[in-house]
Amino acid sequence: MNDTSIAIKYKNSDITVVWQPNKCIHSGICARGLPIVFRPAEKPWIIMDEASSEAIAEQVKKCPSGALSFFVNDGEMFTPSAEERKD
Ligand code: SF4
Repeated sequence: MNDTSIAIKYKNSDITVVWQPNKCIHSGICARGLPIVFRPAEKPWIIMDEASSEAIAEQVKKCPSGALSFFVNDGEMFTPSAEERKD
């Protein structure tokens, strides 16, 4: 079963990144694009303190599967459209 309801959250003072592991196709695009934040070999694997919220958000938008999304802590959820998910 592929339970896409599983969602793990990583937060800084501005934004919360949501990762849905069962949507992740392990493309490595996040880790190659912003390796200081996205570290697949570590736990937790997203280190929110290592880059600006803007840089993290821009990388999240490039996730090809929709496994990554984010919301501004006091705002709305951002889920990239298929068009925005282009690498
Ligand atoms: S970019 Fe998205 S699909 Fe690719 S490894 Fe990162 S979370 Fe998974």
